[in-house]
Amino acid sequence: MVVLGAGFGGLELTARLSAELGHSVGITLIDKSDSFVFGFSKLDVMFGKKQPDAVRNFYRDIRKTGVRFRCETIVSIDPVERRTVTDQGTYEADVLVVALGADYADYDLAATPGLQEVGHEFYSVEGAERVRNVIPSFEAGHAVVGVAGAPFKCPPAPSEAAILLDEYLTQRDRRSAVDISVVIPFGVPVPPSPATSEALLATFAERGIRFLANRRVAALDPSTGAVVLDDGSELPCDLFLGIPVHRVPAVVEASGLAVDGWVPVDPTNLTTRFRNVYSIGDVTSVGTPKAGVFAEGAGRVVAENLIASLAAGEPAAPYDGRGSCYIEFGHELVGRVDVDFLTGPSATGIFAEPSEELAAEKEAFGATRTERWFGV
Ligand SMILES: Cc1cc2nc3c(=O)[nH]c(=O)nc-3n(C[C@H](O)[C@H](O)[C@H](O)COP(=O)(O)OP(=O)(O)OC[C@H]3O[C@@H](n4cnc5c(N)ncnc54)[C@H](O)[C@@H]3O)c2cc1C
Repeated sequence: MVVLGAGFGGLELTARLSAELGHSVGITLIDKSDSFVFGFSKLDVMFGKKQPDAVRNFYRDIRKTGVRFRCETIVSIDPVERRTVTDQGTYEADVLVVALGADYADYDLAATPGLQEVGHEFYSVEGAERVRNVIPSFEAGHAVVGVAGAPFKCPPAPSEAAILLDEYLTQRDRRSAVDISVVIPFGVPVPPSPATSEALLATFAERGIRFLANRRVAALDPSTGAVVLDDGSELPCDLFLGIPVHRVPAVVEASGLAVDGWVPVDPTNLTTRFRNVYSIGDVTSVGTPKAGVFAEGAGRVVAENLIASLAAGEPAAPYDGRGSCYIEFGHELVGRVDVDFLTGPSATGIFAEPSEELAAEKEAFGATRTERWFGV
């Protein structure tokens, strides 16, 4: 079995299969990176709360029976033959799982003219590191946290970034000299959960953060830095923290797996239209938001189905598109939204108020994953 991509989805799937089938099934896990970083750790890096090295979980530390990790770049995928070519070799698989995410190397920075010249993205570790070096010298002016296109990973993340920027500037006595705006292509910050959206909007109001709904950042003016929105209006801007247009990695696009930009799958069991080829997580158009918890849930369903089929047992319960996302509210307080995307007639999201307990729960969420995915 070959698993392409060692992110939330690939790691969960591999860990579960190793636990159940590690002595009888050979699993090759391939990723071009040498380490995994939780998406939310990028917020810690950009605001200087954690060192970049402290948030890396190195794949060389994976201790999983039956799993061999290969740090290689995938250059082509043939879903009919289930053959993968990397910069170092060729892998044939009985079962192939594509879990390559909406990869930062393939964020479409060029889709937002001016972004590379006068703006910053914080969705990659490198981008978060650059922001970390820039914000200490941002003394006054207009800051815009803006989304360039949907779908994008972790819908609450732009709101979290704005709240944490407010806190960062307040702690440095510079808040009164800065305007902060958030631009999001939705009517509210977290559409499936009115209560979460209300809490975020109340926090924005309390902290003087301007919220621009149903707008997308189309470009940045390279001469003035101004943000140009999709309706042609402009926002003055001295610090742009952006969420670039997402797309599947180029190798997935070239493989023929993607249709209309993303890999279509059967939402109940994550099969693609190619025999014995599955796809999980952000790279798919499964119908859940692009977030780690959903990629992880999808990985679990594929693992359970493979385990059941090898044992000639009943198929696993269908993927339910449920997951809990933690939301930073500043002052070390974290809220949580429990969302359900696939089991009812429409998506629902239940909000838990920000608290220190939930901040501890978020820490534990990360720790349990690293133990499960990397430990013996
Ligand atoms: C700022 C921020 C905050 C976030 N906060 C949260 C949160 O609180 N909760 C949450 O659930 N989610 C959060 N997310 C989203 C979460 O990180 C992603 O949705 C999740 O990582 C998706 O998992 P995945 O397995 O689909 O893909 P990924 O985790 O992106 O993994 C894909 C892997 O494929 C590899 N890859 C890509 N192309 C190639 C290639 N050609 N060759 C070899 N390897 C390749 C990449 O290196 C990567 O390791 C956040 C994201 C960001 C940016």
